[in-house]
Amino acid sequence: MDSHAYRHRHLLGIEGLTPDDIGYVLDLADGYVDINREAEKKKSLLRGRTLINCFFENSTRTRTSFEVAGKRLGADVINMAVAVSSMRKGETLIDTAMTLNAMHPDVLVVRHPESGAVQLLAEKVDCAVINAGDGSHEHPTQALLDALTIRRRKGKLGGLTVAICGDVLHSRVARSNIALLNAMGARVRVVAPRTLLPAAVEHLGVEVFHDMAEGLRDVDIVMMLRLQQERMHGSFVPSTREYFHFFGLDYDKLKAAKPDALIMHPGPMNRGVEIGSEVADDIDRSLIRQQVEMGVAVRMACLEIMAGNFGNGPPIQ
Ligand code: ASP
Repeated sequence: MDSHAYRHRHLLGIEGLTPDDIGYVLDLADGYVDINREAEKKKSLLRGRTLINCFFENSTRTRTSFEVAGKRLGADVINMAVAVSSMRKGETLIDTAMTLNAMHPDVLVVRHPESGAVQLLAEKVDCAVINAGDGSHEHPTQALLDALTIRRRKGKLGGLTVAICGDVLHSRVARSNIALLNAMGARVRVVAPRTLLPAAVEHLGVEVFHDMAEGLRDVDIVMMLRLQQERMHGSFVPSTREYFHFFGLDYDKLKAAKPDALIMHPGPMNRGVEIGSEVADDIDRSLIRQQVEMGVAVRMACLEIMAGNFGNGPPIQ
């Protein structure tokens, strides 16, 4: 095996991955981008392997993306939407893990509203587990697809300045991106009102700004985050109108960034709340559609690594 290969059994987060691990996934995914643009996209690499998408929280794009990725590689893909009973979350999770494990899947893709739940589930099963988002903790494939999108457009990650703006407090996308971009030598800023930043956020290795004009000054990438109202208990912003006025991305705020700065958003977007439609749909500057395309390629790479190399076999470490 390639000495730079990704050697972990699971993909639970970006935290703990080396630049070599990340680079290996991105290089593999790069090849899948071309395959996905061909008429004949189906490969048999994972024929006979079973992928179960187990989503304890709603998802359209991530679940579909993993499903498309698995099917393009020839795996059997099963989608499970599991309702979480708020009273018996722990028990439900372990029970579900044991039930799924008994079906001998090769890869489980899991999303859960609680931070740490996917790790807990991974400890109970014999197969590889990919975290498709756990609470406000991590969403590693999102950060990998964002990195691939940036790398293909800018030719590098190291040395770029990336501003991650908005609801950092509730965002697993922000946490995974901060870890990945720091590992790859980019400079990371967060731009948000104080109420939407975690305590001691600077310990994550970011520069902190509370004003868009200052935070976006001379950045290469502006990454907007969705206001995650479903994770808010109480009032974090006065009103969505006022939020857009101070923190929503429009051309006026974008002027502070480099003239060739690019715009990203993990989706789903709240248009008119964290991002204006005209910038979101700007085909020269917005990478939002490319992010979705890169998502499939990155997930194919992750599935190849997880199922192809390890599957139900012994873990390398
Ligand atoms: N789709 C991303 C996530 O699952 C971002 C978002 O929902 O705002 O975390």
